Amino acid sequence: MKHPYEHYLSQTAKDLQPSGIRKFFDLAASMEGVISLGVGEPDFITPWSIREATILSLEQGMTAYTANPGLLELREEITNYLVTRFGVQYDPNNQIIVTIGASQAIDLAFRATLNQGDEVLIVEPAFVSYAPLVAMAGGKPVAVSTSPANGFKVTAQQIEAAITDKTKAILLCSPNNPTGSMLTKTDLIEIAEVIQRYDLLVVSDEIYAELSYDEEFCSFASIEGMYERTILVNGFSKGFAMTGWRLGFLAAPKEFYEVMLKIHQYTTMCAPNMLQRGAIEALRNTYDEVESMRNSYRRRRNYVVQTLNQMGLDCHTPGGAFYVFPSIRSTGLSSEQFAEELLMQEKVAVVPGHVFGDSGEGYIRCSYATSMEQLQEAMKRIKRFIESKGVSYESQSEKVKTR
Ligand code: PLP
Repeated sequence: MKHPYEHYLSQTAKDLQPSGIRKFFDLAASMEGVISLGVGEPDFITPWSIREATILSLEQGMTAYTANPGLLELREEITNYLVTRFGVQYDPNNQIIVTIGASQAIDLAFRATLNQGDEVLIVEPAFVSYAPLVAMAGGKPVAVSTSPANGFKVTAQQIEAAITDKTKAILLCSPNNPTGSMLTKTDLIEIAEVIQRYDLLVVSDEIYAELSYDEEFCSFASIEGMYERTILVNGFSKGFAMTGWRLGFLAAPKEFYEVMLKIHQYTTMCAPNMLQRGAIEALRNTYDEVESMRNSYRRRRNYVVQTLNQMGLDCHTPGGAFYVFPSIRSTGLSSEQFAEELLMQEKVAVVPGHVFGDSGEGYIRCSYATSMEQLQEAMKRIKRFIESKGVSYESQSEKVKTR
């Protein structure tokens, strides 16, 4: 008799869609000679002094649990970092939790705040975890779509139009994954006015703060009136090239902190001791390395944006993160077809835009966190691919002329 596993599984968990990013990543990993622009992680190895601090802590036998919210020394460094870099002041004793990546921080934020049926506005295209995490916490994700007409930036009006009497919170992510768009301080002030008026909670995912190329990054918690209602999420994965360390953090008013800490205590206990030692070093001494990584990404961004536009794929210039999100509409293919055929025909892995929400259809996400040589080869292959579909820079220029 077939075992009735269906009967054991949670309906909410069963209803979750598997991540569309992983599907392409797994397919690409099973093929030879693939250039992957698929997965969003730095191509740099974590700076040596960070690794060394962790090795040293192991040699010294620092293998016990730490305090639940993390080592006080690390929480103090995090508060120094937040105040000196972004001008937001927190108390290391009762406002900071060191988490297992920004991923756990977002999970804690929703689990601590949502009741069954609460609506959470998610600005799309969006990072694939947001909607599932809202759903797992009993909430209802509500998409607010953006488009390249406004550089994929959400406006205060779009937010207001999506608000109902069930709306509890909004998740903001700037710089954004997958579009790379960045909200300026002026944008944030406009958005803050609506948030204040409708008394919303904000989860601000600032994981790409260190990867801002043209304008200074502005933390949402620094906007007047927002500190009290913002759960700030950040971490080490992207800016410090520490994805595999799984270290992030939360900063929030004490009232949120206390509830999130209870959940963290029961589910996680604490982030790994030896890795937190490395994170202390990251915040104390590695800004030169972070800056040199940022400069390298900026050069690659400029190259990729220019090359894609030249070959006939419209691509806005993202202000941050390490993704471009070009339109592939000129090929007449859906984003899924484009990604699949490009992989099969030219062995370049990209992510179809629709996995980031309906408004991502017609786009692909390419991560440029890979070597310049690989990027140049990938661009050559993409050009050949779209030419095989009858698209070229010349035909695009013709279209513009005849419009
Ligand atoms: N938030 C965004 C927007 C991301 O793109 C990612 C990872 O891709 C995360 C959060 C998760 O970060 P972490 O590795 O710190 O869990």
